[in-house]
Amino acid sequence: MMDTQLTLTGFLKRGERFFPNKQIISRTSPTMTHRFSFKDYVKRTHRLADALKKLGMKRGTKVGTFGWNHHRHLEAYFAIPCSGAILHTINIRLAPEHIVYIINHAEDEILLIDGDLFPLVEPALIHLKTVKHVIVMTDDVTIPESSFPNVHSYEQLLQEADESFVFPKDLDENMQAGMCYTSATTGMPKGVMYTHRSIVLHSIALGLSESFGLKESDVALPVVPMFHVNAWGFPFAALNFGSNIVLPGPMFTPALLLDLIEQENVTITAGVPTIWMGVLAEQQKQPRDLSSIRLIISGGSASPKGLIQAYIEKLGVPYVNAYGMTETSPLVSMSHPTTEMTKYEAEDLLDIRVTQGLTASLIDTEVVNEKGEVPWDGVTMGELRIRGPWIASEYYKDERTNEAFRDGWLYTGDIAVMTKEGYIKITDRTKDLIKSGGEWISSVDLENALMSHPAVLEAAVIAIPHPKWLERPLACVVLKENAYASKEELISSLENDFAKWWLPDDVVFLQEIPKTSVGKFLKAKLREDLKSYELPID
Ligand code: AMP
Repeated sequence: MMDTQLTLTGFLKRGERFFPNKQIISRTSPTMTHRFSFKDYVKRTHRLADALKKLGMKRGTKVGTFGWNHHRHLEAYFAIPCSGAILHTINIRLAPEHIVYIINHAEDEILLIDGDLFPLVEPALIHLKTVKHVIVMTDDVTIPESSFPNVHSYEQLLQEADESFVFPKDLDENMQAGMCYTSATTGMPKGVMYTHRSIVLHSIALGLSESFGLKESDVALPVVPMFHVNAWGFPFAALNFGSNIVLPGPMFTPALLLDLIEQENVTITAGVPTIWMGVLAEQQKQPRDLSSIRLIISGGSASPKGLIQAYIEKLGVPYVNAYGMTETSPLVSMSHPTTEMTKYEAEDLLDIRVTQGLTASLIDTEVVNEKGEVPWDGVTMGELRIRGPWIASEYYKDERTNEAFRDGWLYTGDIAVMTKEGYIKITDRTKDLIKSGGEWISSVDLENALMSHPAVLEAAVIAIPHPKWLERPLACVVLKENAYASKEELISSLENDFAKWWLPDDVVFLQEIPKTSVGKFLKAKLREDLKSYELPID
């Protein structure tokens, strides 16, 4: 068989050749939405590659992006790797010291920054050791004030660039194409490098019906940021499959997302559960027509049962949980039920939908404890480990590689069980585990159950030191507006579903649960905030 190289250049060519009239709808400000055909998009991508080359981008050069989801960011997604350089997407919500750390650690030489985000990065520019040029992405050619010497306008550079630029034809599929740092909850972020081959294979997997089933007739709205694991692969895959792409731009709201879905006839969309909670509340206030949607993908953290139920049963919209990590490109598994499961009782089917799901083709997963792989009994917990062609094999220049990558596996730090059907069910992060009297208690299961209570908006369960049991669970709860539930009522609502020793010893009511830069519960901060909290003595 021919050994043709799996590179992103092939995707760009395919999008241009077979789907020239497909659309990119890009919102760049509250008052501006652009519409491009793939044909025009590819022309602009060639211009960007030419402009970057003139600024010194070579093979292996790291080019950082600091932006929302819009067409310029999408141009960078192809212009940089198709030139043999490396696209480094930077999380705009990280703390300034983390932003400086990752740009210096990655050794980015050029940065593309959104105009409205420029003031965030400007004070940090003097701390950047390798950056030579900064390009500001705005709708016009204005350049903001800065003491940094080489600040350029994106649109000005494109105007001056050559559309007939030709991408190199000799890229190797194992060349690095992109990088992303994990949104660390402890320590400095860790870098993950993706290759052309890993991105191409992952993108093709997104076209399988067992995953996103992405196809030409789709209108894809990635709500997940383009700095969070490549917007879960949507930009790359959509170009290849010829799906229309809707990019929601800066500072979007649930109302805006719903309007976009209705106006653009979005068929598939993806984001973290907190996004879908906001969208659900807005939809209940002011319903829009959601009949175009064939799939909402929720990932990044666990979706509470009540949320899944509300989408599927109340709104009639398919909602599927997906699991992955920055280290895994990210797709590992999705909780589509099999045909056999559609015969399950409603409650059992919901128990399947709430899991992280069935492992994707080409990926290998195992839940292991000190005895080896755990039985598929839905109760024995162990650590989830993963391997496959789009799973990282190391952290970029980081000695923490040895902790996570061993014996050809990525050890995820996620504690899971396997259901009898072979569906992965995450019960905790290793760091968040509650070990009471030597036995593990799943904080995720307790949170899910608490969030099913009608008065509860958010719930996080953490371990609190205990003199006898070493650790006991404490529930931290945010109530819905104008709703009330007492501690006793919340704890007793768990009694039917959990063993007595799993029940939280106490409940504290909070205004909000602290969250990470990508909207996940930040339990490390919660534990810190509640350091001096003392459990009631029983
Ligand atoms: P990140 O690298 O920021 O995407 O974070 C990856 C981590 O998010 C995983 O190791 C899990 O702990 C968590 N995670 C991702 N998807 C899910 C999901 N569907 N359900 C529960 N946890 C998830």
